[in-house]
Amino acid sequence: MSAEYVIPVPPVVDLPVAGSTARFPVRRIYCVGRNYLEHIRELGNDEKEPPIFFTKPRDAIVQDASSIPYALATENYHYELELAVAIGSGGSNIPEAEALQHVFGYAVALDMTRRDLQKQLTAKAGPWDVAKAFDHSAPCAAIHPVESVGHPARGNIRLTVNGEVKQDSDLAAMIWNVPQIISRLSAFFELQPGDIIMTGTPAGVGPVQPGDVLVGSIDGLGTLTTTIGARA
Ligand code: MN
Repeated sequence: MSAEYVIPVPPVVDLPVAGSTARFPVRRIYCVGRNYLEHIRELGNDEKEPPIFFTKPRDAIVQDASSIPYALATENYHYELELAVAIGSGGSNIPEAEALQHVFGYAVALDMTRRDLQKQLTAKAGPWDVAKAFDHSAPCAAIHPVESVGHPARGNIRLTVNGEVKQDSDLAAMIWNVPQIISRLSAFFELQPGDIIMTGTPAGVGPVQPGDVLVGSIDGLGTLTTTIGARA
């Protein structure tokens, strides 16, 4: 007999899986910050400091080919195109040499960011939640299973805004590669099936305006299209 609840149960958040009718249920969204040197430099951060982790709520996920409102409470709303790793089996203190065994697949994703709030919070050494973990801040395209695409360690990662190239780099430029990310993240959190890890953005981040069309692509993983709507 199923339980009764005093309020509506929040819906399952899931993502499509390329080549399948079955979907990938999302448990948590972890993110890596400052994982490409040229991006650290463009924001004026310390390039000797290692990458950092932060999180987004799972219901920040937005499906491919969606429109999202221009975010609340910002005048400097930024795109960050990223490789997303979908975890298929969990663990803690996962050795780098075993890390890729825990990956179900990979996807193209955006880490939407309120850059003005992030700068203010960083200056105060405060938490990034309001800059990063807000509604509609995690657009993500279909997950491509490892059995189809392997483990992309290199390949073009590119974002256009209204057809103009804004970010254009290679996955090989990541400071921490995917095995290192999984190993280090799993030292802090027990990873579980359904976890998504956004692996950081290359250089070229910038602001969006209502009406902009963002198209992100990563070699072998297809595209993610996101339209910026009117202010919420
Ligand atoms: Mn990011």
